[in-house]
Amino acid sequence: MGKPTGFIEFLRELPSELTPLDRLHNWDEFHLPMPEDKLRNQAARCMDCGTPFCHTGTLISGMASGCPINNLIPEWNDLIYRGLWREALDRLHKTNNFPEFTGRVCPAPCEGSCVLGIHNPPVTIKNIECSIIDKGWESGWITANPPAIRTGKKVAVIGSGPAGLAAADQLNKAGHWVTVYERADRPGGLLMYGIPNMKLDKEEVVLRRLQMLEQEGVKMVCNTEVGKDISSQDLLNEYDAVVICTGATKPRDLNIEGRQLKGIHFAMEFLTANTKALLDGQPGEDFISAAGKDVVIIGGGDTGTDCVGTSLRHNCRSVTQLEIMPQPPRERAADNPWPEWPKIYRLDYGQEEAAARFGDDPRVYTTTATKFEGDSEGNVTGIHTVQVEWQRNEKGQFIPQPVAGTEKVIPTQLVLLAMGFLGPEQPLLDDLGLEKDARSNIKAEHGQFATSLPKVFAAGDCRRGQSLVVWAINEGRGAARECDRFLMGATDLP
Ligand code: FAD
Repeated sequence: MGKPTGFIEFLRELPSELTPLDRLHNWDEFHLPMPEDKLRNQAARCMDCGTPFCHTGTLISGMASGCPINNLIPEWNDLIYRGLWREALDRLHKTNNFPEFTGRVCPAPCEGSCVLGIHNPPVTIKNIECSIIDKGWESGWITANPPAIRTGKKVAVIGSGPAGLAAADQLNKAGHWVTVYERADRPGGLLMYGIPNMKLDKEEVVLRRLQMLEQEGVKMVCNTEVGKDISSQDLLNEYDAVVICTGATKPRDLNIEGRQLKGIHFAMEFLTANTKALLDGQPGEDFISAAGKDVVIIGGGDTGTDCVGTSLRHNCRSVTQLEIMPQPPRERAADNPWPEWPKIYRLDYGQEEAAARFGDDPRVYTTTATKFEGDSEGNVTGIHTVQVEWQRNEKGQFIPQPVAGTEKVIPTQLVLLAMGFLGPEQPLLDDLGLEKDARSNIKAEHGQFATSLPKVFAAGDCRRGQSLVVWAINEGRGAARECDRFLMGATDLP
């Protein structure tokens, strides 16, 4: 704790950013760097608590709290206050393979657990993390560091999202030869094709790290779907171990009347084709344009927000986001002793931009779609909605009930379904004969990561269901540790 009175002297301050209207003109990230003296003051707000909930990843009231990868937050806050940036970077890399990803997109459960947050706004942990890693790259401190000794063991990682990349990085550091198989044309999983460029820059941030991994010896094989382009049995025969990190990419559908109409797409079709067009420099055949359209997005999570931001950058005519859940409270509930950030009501970037462009928050709460209608050529033209009330059934479960008299029709030419994901795609799992859990995820205990097949491990969303980048990194690191233990009989990996 560099400055014992820092939390009394300094107010929470976030980096400035481009105004919502200015940033709609391009696909660039919009947070501006914060000067070092300001960052130093922000780091000085850390109280170096006896029990630093921010980095412990403990359970509070049954809910996971704090950083899932146990970032050494009070330690690097102290180092930043003292101006020791290089040391802070080393401390950050001890627990996090990719701070430039989490520093940009993590919802920061660490900030929700910051003890200062009980009385004051929490320490700006996420921004300090991002500033440390960005300075590390800019200063040339991050260089390829291939392992000095190779074990001669070969590991295949299936899927190149944050779980697969973290597993590959750790296994490579342990000296194994690692090959990552990815069915898309570029590696990165949802970091590449999912989270849009304005949240996480592809060329400057994602590709930079991918290139570093390759320089250190990780081999990436793209355009190769395991189970289709290469048989899973061949992979099992060729490698000493396999780590499956295929994500939870099966989207939830909405099987109501009119679903077959043209102009109704899964959110990921829209977002993936958009990023691909940006990277390729031209739209492909599967590109879906929102330009000039009234867009309706069904689903109020991160994916829905990314569809709002993307539709606005296409210059849509209007955007509406339907959310079946009630509007969350703006303030902490009186009976809740712990701050609810980041779950408290907040305008995320997409809604903020929509409000600036059209004068209102695009979210419509406690509302669901009941039917799509179309024209004679089979194009969607409208969506029927109704408000719901959440009532308990006889088993005590909350069930949405339509409220009579609240029916509406919203005109639309583009509907994006962003209602979450139903776990991993099943063909590869069935091909391998893997055991699954009750939610069709790969069965493998957290901490062990071993599947029902010998020498096969699983990590990330394909094991835990759709989650967060930081949890994918946690799982990739853990699976690598257990895989290394399996290969070598013991492991030094954390
Ligand atoms: P993924 O990132 O899904 O990667 C899995 C990879 O496996 C994919 O590239 C897929 O093509 C590949 N694959 C699948 N099957 C095969 C096969 N048979 N052969 C070869 N390759 C295969 N989290 C946050 O923390 N912050 C955010 O802001 C955020 N925004 C999000 C926005 C969107 C639109 C979405 C969809 C998710 C978002 N998330 C966010 C969640 C986060 O991206 C995921 O939890 C995380 O990427 C999961 O990592 P993963 O490695 O398990 O899987």
